[in-house]
Amino acid sequence: MENDCIFCKIIEKKIPSDMIYEDKDTLAFLDINPVNQGHTLVIPKKHYKNILDIPSKEFLKVMETVRKITPAIKEAVNAGGINIGISNEKIAAQAVFHLHIHIMPRFENDGLKMFPSKKYKEGEAKQIANKIRFKII
Ligand code: 5GP
Ligand code: ZN
Repeated sequence: MENDCIFCKIIEKKIPSDMIYEDKDTLAFLDINPVNQGHTLVIPKKHYKNILDIPSKEFLKVMETVRKITPAIKEAVNAGGINIGISNEKIAAQAVFHLHIHIMPRFENDGLKMFPSKKYKEGEAKQIANKIRFKII
């Protein structure tokens, strides 16, 4: 429990949520401002900021809940597909600093635009891939 964390308060049932799944380690509830009907957030019950500080074991538990409930969400709202995403840090639009995975149902012509793409310059991709590979621990 982290002071002033809205998702910790949801876990503690200090503020209400439309909960759809709960187990020992994770919780899933509807996003209060959905991109589409059925937009769900899955969180670990322990407070971690985002993917940059959550240990592997805890993250896998959250992902397992995502895997478990995604088919139910898709069927319940009759979605054509599902996007899954995590915002990490303010620059990446993270607004709540308790790790959460968005499960976002998609519908034909729902108007959502995901990521507009860019192009690499000649040789740039290789250079960046090398740089990243070197940093993996
Ligand atoms: P982020 O931008 O951090 O990835 O997403 C935070 C999400 O949390 C937003 O989509 C926002 O609508 C949702 N959210 C913020 N406060 C609450 C709340 O009190 N209850 C629920 N259910 N969702 C919230
Ligand atoms: Zn929290």
